[in-house]
Amino acid sequence: MCMMTSQEYIESLRKLKTRVYMFGEQIENWVDHPMIRPSINCVAMTYALAQNPEYEDLMTATSSLTGRKINRFTHLHQSTDDLIKKVKMQRLLGQKTASCFQRCVGMDSFNAVFSTTYEVDEAHGTHYHENFKKFLTMVQDNDLTVDGAMTDPKGDRSKAPHAQEDPDMYVHVVERRADGIVVCGAKCHQTGSINSHWHIFMPTISMGPDDKDWAVSFACPTDAEGMYMIYGRQSCDTRKMEENADIDLGNKAFGGQEALVVLDHVFIPNEYIFLNGEYEFAGMMVERFAGYHRQSYGGCKVGVGDVVIGATALAAEYNGVEKASAVKDKLIEMTHLNETLYCCGIACSSQGFQTKAGNYQIDLLLANVCKQNVTRFPYEIVRLAEDVAGGLMVTMPSEADFKSGTVVGRNGETIGEICNKFFKGRPGVSTEDRQRVMRFLENICLGAAAVGYRTESMHGAGSPQAQRIMISRQCNMEGKKQLARNIAGIHNDNKN
Ligand code: SF4
Ligand code: FE
Repeated sequence: MCMMTSQEYIESLRKLKTRVYMFGEQIENWVDHPMIRPSINCVAMTYALAQNPEYEDLMTATSSLTGRKINRFTHLHQSTDDLIKKVKMQRLLGQKTASCFQRCVGMDSFNAVFSTTYEVDEAHGTHYHENFKKFLTMVQDNDLTVDGAMTDPKGDRSKAPHAQEDPDMYVHVVERRADGIVVCGAKCHQTGSINSHWHIFMPTISMGPDDKDWAVSFACPTDAEGMYMIYGRQSCDTRKMEENADIDLGNKAFGGQEALVVLDHVFIPNEYIFLNGEYEFAGMMVERFAGYHRQSYGGCKVGVGDVVIGATALAAEYNGVEKASAVKDKLIEMTHLNETLYCCGIACSSQGFQTKAGNYQIDLLLANVCKQNVTRFPYEIVRLAEDVAGGLMVTMPSEADFKSGTVVGRNGETIGEICNKFFKGRPGVSTEDRQRVMRFLENICLGAAAVGYRTESMHGAGSPQAQRIMISRQCNMEGKKQLARNIAGIHNDNKN
């Protein structure tokens, strides 16, 4: 088998013994849980679209390891064209789900770990690259979803991993055996962790000689002994638990997912270890993974942005204001901002280059500029969406009211009839359609989906300051100063 159908993917999750906790209790059937299932549907879409001939070119690739046809989400990028297709694929998925579809963290970790392990082996004579190639071949052949786990809890941010009061604040090795290592710790807000078959763990910051036990990277199955997850809640999430919930959810089918992933003395066999004490390579792995994921945001958030812009235009139409020049101008501004993000995603891809290991990496400066813009523009897009849509998106009565047969009026009118009368917009548009578009905007601007569009735009793939540090490192300020000296006729560097 090289590619699963979406149904096969969902069924494959049922075979795992993944330990999931929510609201203080273990969830046995988490695959069908109403708060979790929408996020599974999102990942399932990465399988469904790969089966569709219309999207074959974007959704599939030829494996550089086996020559077989694989899902692009398991691919090692072989050219700048591959990097561009990755961004286009993510925009497509964003358009189809209006959510975070989660599978990119695995793809980004594959490409970062592949190139970094090659360079670790070169420096240390280790065999991590071969380990990784074997692992990835298994992933590609079985079309697995893998979570790329990076963000440690970090405890006291002013202290390095080894200096923390509690050593578990960063994932670390607690025991070394002849056949492997035992690890402890946790990774926070892990996107798509529960519905992944495997996890790849990576360090979250650059490390020094005293951090050797924390400089560790490895793969492990999601249902490994000693591993469990505590589900992260989202704004308005319990609406999904309401009976027959539909319109009030805004996006019934799809959603994102984050969890705290805990490693409580998990044994990792040697063959799944990709870094083990070579602390000077921790930073390289972080930088590369973050770079790929910052590129990713120039695709996924743009696709979701397309849906937000479309919903805003519909809201304007339903309100009868679509011809107002101020509304048209706001929609143009939203489009301008959204396409600017796409430009960044495409630019950092087209300026990519081949790594020593052979796969392709994005231009790091442009990828960081991409993500820096993502920390701002979706906020402005959402602000404009709320401006155009009007306050109704947060003040409308519930779906149950619109459907209620309880009599309230002097002439026997029901609550449902009253709601439908007073919340009607332009003639020819059903009140229900207006409800739907308003609830979608509520969901994406400040409800459950805001995790994946708004706040994730700020902190996903690293918070804004992390990009500014990378921009300062990559911007070649000395080169720029020299350009100025050349033009201005300054022949002395005037250094103290
Ligand atoms: Fe993919 Fe975007 Fe979600 Fe990251 S935030 S996993 S890039 S959809
Ligand atoms: Fe993310």
